[in-house]
Amino acid sequence: MSLFPQVQFQKSVALPGQFPPDRGWEVAVAGRSNCGKSSAINALLMHGGLARTSRTPGRTQLYNYFDLAPGLRLVDLPGYGHAKVPVAIRETWGPLGEALRQRQSFAALLLVVDSRRGVGDLDLGLLEWAGRPPETTHVLLSKSDKLARGQSMKALREAAAALDGIASVQLFSAHSGAGLDEARKVLLRWTREHKEITPAV
Ligand code: GDP
Repeated sequence: MSLFPQVQFQKSVALPGQFPPDRGWEVAVAGRSNCGKSSAINALLMHGGLARTSRTPGRTQLYNYFDLAPGLRLVDLPGYGHAKVPVAIRETWGPLGEALRQRQSFAALLLVVDSRRGVGDLDLGLLEWAGRPPETTHVLLSKSDKLARGQSMKALREAAAALDGIASVQLFSAHSGAGLDEARKVLLRWTREHKEITPAV
């Protein structure tokens, strides 16, 4: 069973004027290029081809909106931290990012961090930029299948220390399915809490 049976791609946003109407609730998904963000989105939403996975880091530069259910959206942000991203695209991060940040509906942030790399300055910068409360900020330590158990526990401990008071964090693997239920529960909790606050979406 899919988490959101009606999920579908809505639109790509390249300019601030192109955002969907600012109503309802949206979760942004962010992460460094090649962190496994597309695979995580596809696994979470149980939809193989939804977010395009690519072996070329830094290829997705648009804000890609998906409708999860009426009034609930997921926005897949461009991967950051890749040197080959052209300057023109980096410049649009500013106004586009600012437009997103101002949205009433931008309620939660899911950050994907490669578990082998750990939480870095760029990730912390992104979290600071988003400025969401810790209850609505969650980090997936991705590709955990690549780490031995001891290493993954160490990665989790270190990430939890770096994210103390900023975000919750868990191990995750789109390939093995490790942590999938836990991550889905977070997403469901957020959307349910939202509906309790604003039943009219
Ligand atoms: P994105 O650029 O952040 O959207 O990352 P992708 O989802 O396209 O993944 C980047 C690379 O990491 C691809 O080669 C994926 O196959 C690989 N990858 C993604 N998730 C996992 C995972 O859970 N385990 C392993 N071993 N590899 C993964």
